[in-house]
Amino acid sequence: MTCEACTQAEVNPRTGLYRIGCAECSARMLAHSPEFAESAARQTLTQPYKAALAVALVPGERIEQTHQRVRAWDRRIRGLLSPAVAAGLRLDPFCDPEEA
Ligand SMILES: [Zn+2]
Repeated sequence: MTCEACTQAEVNPRTGLYRIGCAECSARMLAHSPEFAESAARQTLTQPYKAALAVALVPGERIEQTHQRVRAWDRRIRGLLSPAVAAGLRLDPFCDPEEA
């Protein structure tokens, strides 16, 4: 379920190219969103973020799984910005939903 924008994002996770209707593009877009940033800062799935996650849901997926896809993109996006992250250091304190 990849699209041309996803293919480009594999090389450059910070690409601004998205395809409407693509769940992976939606997850990548959410990683840039203020809803995700607020949720990460508060270390909980906020209601606005949960509402935003619904856009990126794929059939049969739980919202926590969608959240994990967003987090994966967030890490990849920030990995390009921080050599420490690229080196594998865990700088993301955003806890997993199971831990909350
Ligand atoms: Zn896509």
